[in-house]
Amino acid sequence: MNFHQFQLHEKIMAGVKVSGYIEPTPIQVKSIPAIMEGRDVMGLAQTGTGKTAAFALPILQRLMGGPLGVVRALIIAPTRELTEQTQNAISQLGYKTGLRSLSIYGGVGILPQIQTLRRGVDIISACPGRLLDHINRKTVNLSKIEVLVLDEADQMFDMGFLPDIRKIIKHLPAVRQTLLFSATMPDDIRGLAGDILTNPVSFQIGYSQPASTVAHTFYPVETQRKNVLLDKILENTETGPVLVFTRTKIRSKRVAQHLDQSGYKTAALHGNLSQSQRQKALDGFRSGRYKILVATDVAARGIDVRKVSHVINYDIPNTAEAYTHRIGRTGRACETGDAFTFVTCEDKILTRSIGKLLEGNVKYCSLDGFPDISAILGGPSGETKTRAKTGIRPNRPKRTAGSYVKEKDGRRRAEGRR
Ligand code: AMP
Repeated sequence: MNFHQFQLHEKIMAGVKVSGYIEPTPIQVKSIPAIMEGRDVMGLAQTGTGKTAAFALPILQRLMGGPLGVVRALIIAPTRELTEQTQNAISQLGYKTGLRSLSIYGGVGILPQIQTLRRGVDIISACPGRLLDHINRKTVNLSKIEVLVLDEADQMFDMGFLPDIRKIIKHLPAVRQTLLFSATMPDDIRGLAGDILTNPVSFQIGYSQPASTVAHTFYPVETQRKNVLLDKILENTETGPVLVFTRTKIRSKRVAQHLDQSGYKTAALHGNLSQSQRQKALDGFRSGRYKILVATDVAARGIDVRKVSHVINYDIPNTAEAYTHRIGRTGRACETGDAFTFVTCEDKILTRSIGKLLEGNVKYCSLDGFPDISAILGGPSGETKTRAKTGIRPNRPKRTAGSYVKEKDGRRRAEGRR
């Protein structure tokens, strides 16, 4: 299968070409023809599957045929990063079409957004809060919307955005095409889908499963020794860009400081940063200036950095679904990746539920001086038996090939110090 079979306009094909896409991904194969037929779509798709182009390409195709400078497509997403990233993808894919796109989110001045809207925009990629702000100020006109996309709907629900979304939908024409994408399908999202989609084509791509290109390893550790474990892993593992997840903003700041002092070029990404600081951290990570980005879940939502070689869950995610999202940052679009998760005694239930999600495709690795997985899961379990039987010491850390240049000024902290 190649992109020519979709019979996209040649100006859109130019965008596909500059994006470097050769073959459509499975979600693109399934959704592009249905969306081009004008059908509503409910897509259960994990992150990193090529979802953005799956809806962006048919939207560009549809909009090329009509009046320019009128907002006719609206994409709503949970975070600024995802909103910005979607807009970037659309402007790259549509760079020859003459269609104009704008991302709308809070935390930055509203005036430039208003000025751009006045000049005429065809596609808006927005976070719910700031979009409602524009609606209330009457600085955006959504009465001509032909296509609505709700992206990462489960996360929008988690973040409490569903009431805002329902308010926004009241300002859209009742007759429109609606596309809803979600990595998981909690009951509330199913309810919303039932209310706003008409006779949708439904499909799922790797429902709730992280991409198969990722290898999963759990590292048992005592809570207070996570930094020591992190240092050991980084010292002994050959990596490219590394994304480290923490549960709280304060911890992401502290872990980033620790790594920075250990000689790794590191940035933190969390909700206490201003938009320009967040952008700086992300841009620095993308460009390679920072080798490690330490982020919280919300801040990291939608980060698209190609070639993240390792995702390290310094703190285990709160749900199995959140694990899928975090891990979606590596192994994207057929690159391979590793996911390392630190597990402590308090994480017993989550360790088991994520293990279940991964259907046994998880390895347990106890480094010397760190507890065995049985100490975490408590007594003999299916998982520990597997390890005892097979003697797995997975992802045996490779000697580093020097992905990081360590500073030799003695700044690396002694083991055990925090
Ligand atoms: P997404 O799931 O939309 O965030 O996309 C994940 C990554 O895959 C992004 O870096 C896209 O640019 C890339 N991508 C999307 N479609 C394709 C494709 N057909 N071939 C190669 N890469 C793609």
